[in-house]
Amino acid sequence: MGRLLHGLDPGEMRLRAETARIERFRSLEKTGREKTVRIAKSIPTRYRDRYVKVHLGEASPRTIMRAHCEQCVGWEEAPVSIGTCKSFSCALWRTRPYQAKAGDPG
Ligand code: SF4
Repeated sequence: MGRLLHGLDPGEMRLRAETARIERFRSLEKTGREKTVRIAKSIPTRYRDRYVKVHLGEASPRTIMRAHCEQCVGWEEAPVSIGTCKSFSCALWRTRPYQAKAGDPG
């Protein structure tokens, strides 16, 4: 396995980066964003990392859009719920994720 800076392998680097991200996210509680941290703790783990990155300002616009749609559908069956979303008046509707999975031509 290849070695990176400071003698850490890629797995260790990822773990340290993730731990540091969690610590930065928890610090949001001290800035009046307790509700954001509480929500992150309650959502399914498969969506949590994206939510955390968004709230730390570390997400791309595409990732922010995905996280917003996932929150909109309550993280319930997100790929299907978002892909088949019929809220045509939503500003994100035309560019929402998961359209291909739903077979929706958009
Ligand atoms: S496109 Fe649909 S799922 Fe996404 S934010 Fe709008 S209403 Fe919610």
